[in-house]
Amino acid sequence: MTTLNESQAIEELHWQLGLLQTLDVGLLVLDRQYNVQLWNSFMEHHSGVVASDTRGRNLFNVIANLPVDWLKRKLDAVFMLKNPAYISWEQRPYLFRFKSYRPITGGAAHMYQNVSLIPLRSPSGEVNHIGILVYDVTDIALGKLQLQQANAQLKALSRQDGLTGLYNRAYWEQCLDLEFSRFARRQVASSLVLLDIDHFKAINDNYGHPAGDEVIRQLAALLTRLARRTDIVGRYGGEEFGVLLVDTGSVNAEIYCERLRRAAEALEVEHGGQRISFTISLGVAELTSEACGPAEWIEQADRALYRSKQAGRNRFTVYGLE
Ligand code: GH3
Ligand code: MG
Ligand code: MG
Repeated sequence: MTTLNESQAIEELHWQLGLLQTLDVGLLVLDRQYNVQLWNSFMEHHSGVVASDTRGRNLFNVIANLPVDWLKRKLDAVFMLKNPAYISWEQRPYLFRFKSYRPITGGAAHMYQNVSLIPLRSPSGEVNHIGILVYDVTDIALGKLQLQQANAQLKALSRQDGLTGLYNRAYWEQCLDLEFSRFARRQVASSLVLLDIDHFKAINDNYGHPAGDEVIRQLAALLTRLARRTDIVGRYGGEEFGVLLVDTGSVNAEIYCERLRRAAEALEVEHGGQRISFTISLGVAELTSEACGPAEWIEQADRALYRSKQAGRNRFTVYGLE
């Protein structure tokens, strides 16, 4: 015969189990052989396996695709040390490959999970069972991932020139500073090319400002096409560009300048039914110990560019050989 106390205790256990069942957290209990002793409705719902089909069965047979060795090591450590262990979604996006059903988080293919492994002590203090709690943290994870993505885009945008997609002046100058200090340390050859479109005002005047923009864009695309992977191309000003030729001495820089000059001369930009031809002038300065800072290096290239303009445009000049 059950006493009043016993029936109270059973009643209490009953509603406690009911609560565990409706909890919006996955809960399962394993014994030392990784056999399932408890499987709540969250686990049923997301795994598609009902509790009656899990009872006493090995977890790794109930659920395929678990990281078997890794999880066994984690569980064994909890059994041995009798301390809880936690697995965050940042460390491992999920333990159980469940679909994500939430409408707001439709973007996620799977549920992100935080998982706790809790040692369950018997009254005598032994640990023969582990409770596993599985928290659905898809909303938090997606929020954080989207933020990271937005930050990366913002960073890229702050480096980019809006019209051409090339590096903007501020970022390009940072690269130049870096190259200058690299030279100070290791004396690797580098050349700096500044170039400017000839009589660009006339292009704006004759064809209109939008046509001028198109010329700038197409010249930028040409610079990108002719650049090597290590070259650093930036828009320095309105119709002025800078190209940092890394690991390149003046002999190869001259070859680059001539190739670029010819390609620009041959380029025909179509805009509003008109074909626009143009030329560019260039100045190039190889980095030597003469330049005592990045500003002086730019100054040298700029002086060479000025010489090209003076000498009649559509040409390049090497600083020091003017
Ligand atoms: P030079 O051969 O001496 O370089 O002659 P230039 O006419 O090119 O002279 P300058 O470099 O002084 O003129 C640049 C002009 O470029 C002035 C400015 O109105 C125009 N400009 C600057 N930025 C832009 C831009 O983003 N788009 C357009 N369409 N024009 C621009
Ligand atoms: Mg110009
Ligand atoms: Mg100019």
